[in-house]
Amino acid sequence: MRRRFASLTRSAPLWAAALLVACPGPPQIAPLPDTALAALQHDLDLGLPPPAGDPLWVVGPERAGPEGVRVSPVRLSLVEGWELTGALFSPAAPVPGAAVLVSHGHFGQGKSGAEAQEIAWRLAAHGALVLSVDSPGEEEGALPQRLIHLEGGAHGRALLRAGGASALGLQLAGLRRGIDALAARGATRIGLTGASGGAVLSFYGGLLDPRVSAVALASPPPIPREARGGGCLCDQVPGRPGPDPHLLASLRVPALWLLDHRGPPPEGLGPQAEVIESDGPHSYTAEMQEGALRFFGTHLGLRGGPLGPAAGMDLAGPPLPADAPGLADLPLRPPVAWDPDAQALEGWGAPVVEARCVGAGPTVLVVGLPADAEGARLDALRAAGLRACALRVPEDEGAEAEAELRGRPWVARQAAALQHAASQHGAVAVWAARAWGLPAGLLPLPWVWEQPICALSEVDPAKDPAWVHTPGAWWGDHAAARCARAPVRGSDPAVLIGGLRAALGG
Ligand SMILES: [Zn+2]
Repeated sequence: MRRRFASLTRSAPLWAAALLVACPGPPQIAPLPDTALAALQHDLDLGLPPPAGDPLWVVGPERAGPEGVRVSPVRLSLVEGWELTGALFSPAAPVPGAAVLVSHGHFGQGKSGAEAQEIAWRLAAHGALVLSVDSPGEEEGALPQRLIHLEGGAHGRALLRAGGASALGLQLAGLRRGIDALAARGATRIGLTGASGGAVLSFYGGLLDPRVSAVALASPPPIPREARGGGCLCDQVPGRPGPDPHLLASLRVPALWLLDHRGPPPEGLGPQAEVIESDGPHSYTAEMQEGALRFFGTHLGLRGGPLGPAAGMDLAGPPLPADAPGLADLPLRPPVAWDPDAQALEGWGAPVVEARCVGAGPTVLVVGLPADAEGARLDALRAAGLRACALRVPEDEGAEAEAELRGRPWVARQAAALQHAASQHGAVAVWAARAWGLPAGLLPLPWVWEQPICALSEVDPAKDPAWVHTPGAWWGDHAAARCARAPVRGSDPAVLIGGLRAALGG
């Protein structure tokens, strides 16, 4: 690892710099063994069959930007019939063979965001063919069936996991198509860059795709993220909490780490790594862009020169149709469908559950009903001679990440909460609505299922929690069979109460 001392010598006496240079560096951290890297590659590979030939085509008029660079809106075929959106920047004076793929982070836009767009113009001005690819659900592709980022993408991420994939794996598949497209245009020296989440994608691209020559990572977050580190969960690798210095040490191509802070770089950087500290902010600042241009000048042979102007255009082309295929339409390789077992409930601690109880008699837990329907069910159960306790299981923002990084179905955590409440209240049965039928079915108690969810088409992302997507649930006949096993189900409360009374022997 080479570290630039310019900032240090400005802020500290010369002897401090001399001392740092004289001291031996930290012990070298071993890269992951080849078998572990192969396993990671396998976990992140969605196995999507590549389209025949060049995956990229232009979908709108070319526009002119600064320094003679032209930009065109493009589409990329991720898999036959499933398109990604992007922009292709063509230099006025191309450096033959040199190309850079730009990935965006979470700055509110995809390729059009300043954090992605500015560096794209400037790299093209220095001679690189530049392709910027939107991740699914961004800009022209911002469709409900494609969202994977932040809170709005929780269902999408859970659906991908249920299908044996991940949001990171999907984004990497898009990045790979972008590299295919650059290679089809004669690129032989390919760089990857991006800020924040775009840096994470660039890191994995450089780690796993042998066609990549160098990567420049602006404002990189911890890779992989910590179990409860915040940020978007789209860049987590299921079952692999971070940060992992051995993973960082496995990156073999030249890498420029453009830190958004002063202080030590991430642990594990190898001899191919170069670090530039800065005062931030968390972005792809002009200072970081200067560093990236110089770095790619060295490693891709781009022309040197000062930081020229960059445009700030809306780079979006024509929107994708509203009925464009979504995440559920990808040809995934779903795992064997997950079925509940007692072990799944262990080790989740005692999740907080609030209860409001009415009536007297044997206790029934009521969970999953909207507030406006709850009162009527409690009254009906009380009238049937039962004590009814309506449960509230507060959303735990860290639960998705925790479940993902433990490699366990998120629904098991909800089942553990339900089990905890059942023992607290001495419950003899459960009245579960919608998604809550899944955890209810895990408990050794009689239960009824109001408004059962028996197919993906019955999931309402606005109302139902993302943990409804259990591994393998929506493939084959698993969901229908799971529904059929529920002893009493339906939408008529009177029928459900009758079923419940019968199950309780009265
Ligand atoms: Zn994201």
